[in-house]
Amino acid sequence: MDKIKVAFYDAKDYDKNSFVEASKDSEFEITYLETRLTPDTVMLADGCDVVCVFVNDDINKSVIDKLVEMGIKLLALRCAGYNNVDIEYAYERIHIVRVPAYSPYAVAEHAIAMLLTSIRRIHKAYIRTRDFNFSLSGMMGFDLHGKTMGVVGTGKIGRILIDICRGFGMNIIAYDKFPAEGSGIEYVTLDELFKRSDIISLHCPLNDESRHMINDKSIALMKKGVVILNTSRGALIDTEALIEGIKARKVGAACLDVYEEESNIFFHDYSGHIIDDDNLARLISMPNVIVTSHQAFLTREALSNIADTTLANIREYLEKGYSVNEVCYKCPKVTDCGQKHQGKCF
Ligand code: NAD
Repeated sequence: MDKIKVAFYDAKDYDKNSFVEASKDSEFEITYLETRLTPDTVMLADGCDVVCVFVNDDINKSVIDKLVEMGIKLLALRCAGYNNVDIEYAYERIHIVRVPAYSPYAVAEHAIAMLLTSIRRIHKAYIRTRDFNFSLSGMMGFDLHGKTMGVVGTGKIGRILIDICRGFGMNIIAYDKFPAEGSGIEYVTLDELFKRSDIISLHCPLNDESRHMINDKSIALMKKGVVILNTSRGALIDTEALIEGIKARKVGAACLDVYEEESNIFFHDYSGHIIDDDNLARLISMPNVIVTSHQAFLTREALSNIADTTLANIREYLEKGYSVNEVCYKCPKVTDCGQKHQGKCF
């Protein structure tokens, strides 16, 4: 049997390890490429059946045209979000599969890790005590118990975060475009969520509607001292508005695992360089901002699930001509487009 040839872009040692393990003794022949998928690197996939990409690969119109021209049968995203793919243009050109859930626990737990680090000043304490500075000045935090957590997006990750926050004794309010009926969650309008929350955590996808949902107008509605958590997608937040909100002492803290201009920066070591991005440099310089490098997904369990599901998606698509994890531009627009039942988008 011919091997299924996969061009694997933006390969890092950790995901390479999990894919090597998952594809051991299988029908897959995977070429690991360190470069991201761009119009300049798309030719490296020539001769392959499938292209496998991650969150910062840019699958725009010209890349899609080239993939189709080269006879690539499938674009396999090894992530949940697909805002980096022009899915409307891909429709009827190339099929796309994704990994809808690999470990929602990993992301929700990371959001909480960032929150506790920030409000209990753990990042400061770690550095202080390593320098034998045992002073507590400036280390005052606040209890989560009794505070209101506003959750935007009550899908897989948002719901797990809600369960964790209930354990802390927090009050939960939420906004979702499609509220989960019978879930016992108190849904409010987005404006009400902004007004009432002590902490706001974003767990909805990035699309035209949600882009810059945190902006100068929404920040104006928020409580003084609000803590904003973003483990979803960077462009949900208008970075300049956030910086102004922090400078005005309106936003008390921000915990950011994602950043709207992250694609050329995150996942790379720039420790010996001068960063050109002034907004990111400004955020990192602020004592009440914590930035992690799109790392919320990075647990052993998640990586293993990503590898297993991605290979199963490819196998299913090539064997049956469809996959339950196929995604198309209609997905965010309708709740039931038939894809879930027939598996095929076009
Ligand atoms: P999900 O599809 O299970 O849930 C998303 C929820 O958002 C759904 O309930 C949906 O109805 C809701 N929604 C859609 N549009 C909305 C809008 N405009 N306003 C409010 N709610 C809206 O997704 P999930 O698995 O919970 O993941 C959430 C997001 O987390 C993903 O879109 C992805 O961007 C991000 N993510 C980040 C990482 C990371 O490593 N940082 C890892 C995985 C996922």
